[in-house]
Amino acid sequence: MKQIIFATQNRHKAKEVQKMTVGVAQIITLDELGYNADIEETGGTLEENALIKAEAIYKHYNRPVFADDTGLEVDALNGAPGVHSARFAGEPKSDKANLQKLIDDMEVQDNRTARFRTVICYYSESKALYFEGIVDGEIIKNPVGIEGFGYDPVFLPNGYSQTFAQMDMELKNRISHRGRAFRQFVAYLKKQM
Ligand code: IMP
Repeated sequence: MKQIIFATQNRHKAKEVQKMTVGVAQIITLDELGYNADIEETGGTLEENALIKAEAIYKHYNRPVFADDTGLEVDALNGAPGVHSARFAGEPKSDKANLQKLIDDMEVQDNRTARFRTVICYYSESKALYFEGIVDGEIIKNPVGIEGFGYDPVFLPNGYSQTFAQMDMELKNRISHRGRAFRQFVAYLKKQM
């Protein structure tokens, strides 16, 4: 079976993808390879950052690899935090501080529309392919829910009355940016079999 490296240090993400790719590809994690160097995400877009991560690992191992990058794009903030979602409130990176900054920055805003966007870059034989997943929604004023992570407590996806932080993981994965992007990627891998 085809082996593909997932260029992430996030074990939770790796496990999820391993579940989705049973029988399609064998996903190798950076942990399993013993790779723990930091790859600096210096890109100005999600696409660039996903490429930077995938390309760095490809150059190191010369084997097919993919990487993902996610951002929350808020219209009233001109697309911020976007590619800077992980460090919106600065260093050291903190989900809690980022969430509070978003709540503060949105306090006076009437337009509350936003979207989560995930980009996957699949790098093999020196060429890059991209897959994207988007979920549209709005930023509510007060956080609700304790599931998930990051900006989940204030993100209300369109068509639902629960924030991402109120949903169980299965429902969130079904409708989320990351779930959508990964299903597209897995569909592509299946076609290549
Ligand atoms: P990453 O590219 O997956 O590491 O995501 C970058 C940042 O976006 C994270 O640090 C989180 O703050 C935020 N983020 C990504 N995915 C989600 C999500 O599903 N819910 C809430 N926040 C997220």
